[in-house]
Amino acid sequence: MTNLPAVKSARPTLIAAAQAVCGRFGLREDFSAGSVGAAILTVGGNIYTGICIDLACGLGFCAEVAAMAEMLKARETHIMAVVAVSADGELLPPCGRCRETIAQLDPRNLDCLVILANDRAVPLRALLPEHWLAEPPASGQVRTPGAE
Ligand SMILES: [Zn+2]
Repeated sequence: MTNLPAVKSARPTLIAAAQAVCGRFGLREDFSAGSVGAAILTVGGNIYTGICIDLACGLGFCAEVAAMAEMLKARETHIMAVVAVSADGELLPPCGRCRETIAQLDPRNLDCLVILANDRAVPLRALLPEHWLAEPPASGQVRTPGAE
């Protein structure tokens, strides 16, 4: 279960971390990045951030994906809270693809908190009702990347 007081106290820090990395920039007219920033707080107490990339041809990825990649580089998978912020400071719920990715990286993440406003967060599970990964694997163990 998610440590609610820890997430509540970390919420301003997480929002600030996500906002600190975002800021729209373009190298060309058809390329932009950083219009959304994301921050992840792991159960290990670490914060990872990422920015989105948007290309005119439709390729790109969300800021949450970039933050998850940073988290995986540190061999962590268990998320306590996640937030995404636009360059204008608006908090954004994760898209369906990011919700699914967060859940599949580690089924325990169904209980991570998605920060939707300065005073509102909901468990990922509430954004993915009837999820097919509703329960952890039968072994009760989630394989940590790099651990054998
Ligand atoms: Zn997304």
